[in-house]
Amino acid sequence: MKPESTEHTGDNAAQVDSSLVVSVVLPAHNEASGLGAAVESIRKVIHSSGMSYEIIIVDDGSNDETCKEIERLNAVDGNIKGIRLSRQFGKESALLAGLRAADGAVSITMDADLQHPPALIPQMLEKWRAGARVVHAVKRDRQIDGWLTRSSVALFNKLLSLTSGFNMRGASDFKLLDRTVIDLLVHHLPERGRFYRGLAGWAGFEQSRVPFDVVERDTGSGKWSGFALFDLALTAITSFTSAPLRVITILGAVTLVFGIIVSVEALWSWFRGYAVSGFVTIIITLLLIGSFIMISLGIIGEYIAKIYAEVKDRPPYIVASTCGFDNNSGPRNSFGNGD
Ligand code: UDP
Ligand code: MG
Repeated sequence: MKPESTEHTGDNAAQVDSSLVVSVVLPAHNEASGLGAAVESIRKVIHSSGMSYEIIIVDDGSNDETCKEIERLNAVDGNIKGIRLSRQFGKESALLAGLRAADGAVSITMDADLQHPPALIPQMLEKWRAGARVVHAVKRDRQIDGWLTRSSVALFNKLLSLTSGFNMRGASDFKLLDRTVIDLLVHHLPERGRFYRGLAGWAGFEQSRVPFDVVERDTGSGKWSGFALFDLALTAITSFTSAPLRVITILGAVTLVFGIIVSVEALWSWFRGYAVSGFVTIIITLLLIGSFIMISLGIIGEYIAKIYAEVKDRPPYIVASTCGFDNNSGPRNSFGNGD
């Protein structure tokens, strides 16, 4: 598939015109307390690089003062714009809404809590100027997290890398995307269940990586409930690999071989006149096989649920209002289902 945008010359600097260049996309859910500081430090960094910019804050159904804060910031600097979603649709949808509204030749997606250091932006832009179309900011090992969190995140990323074929080590949503990739993600991927981290890598082209250290949040608290994280992990797996379905097939084959061995042994005993023993063994086998079957049904059910969600084709987000966009730009469509 060929994206709509222009041919790539290999040198992105040549494509920079004097108009808008960098669109920073910040998804924000209840971030009123730290939003001003985050936007200020992003502005400072971009100002010093001398590029023109817009900062698009997507208010993901906040119930604090985030929306008012965006309006206040917009009154101070017209380059700061806001999109308010009609309710909390989740970070993936908020990112999509922001990218869809982005007008820049390049877009940078980052968290609104300063855990993604703005100081990295010049380095990312440098990589982009050198020709990269996707620049991934990659988390160094997070010493501030507990051992269990670090190990489970590392294991999840490792498994996903192995099964999907993309390097997900230290993956974060802090990324720079060239216009070609933005258009690709926004206009050519109609899927609802999105996993942005994976899709940016899936796009291909020249990709580059910049390491960074995750710092503690200054204000507010993490917005991910255990359930939301589990749901994101399921979306990541179901949208990038069908390996779990294959595991079921393999497990079925192993169980069959095991079943044949046990049956031969039982028949052999019976022919030789021994009573077939092992009531406990039968109960254990039944329980184990029953569990395997239920887990397998659950896995298949997850894929079916994702297919169902895709078939329903509901918009991934609904825009309630916008601020700072003029009539000709900004979100063309109040519903997030394409153009
Ligand atoms: N976020 C969002 N919608 C959500 C959850 C999070 O827009 O449903 C935003 C949040 O405001 C923040 C970013 O996504 O700007 C990352 O969230 P958080 O800091 O809670 O995640 P973590 O740092 O643990 O990855
Ligand atoms: Mg955070």
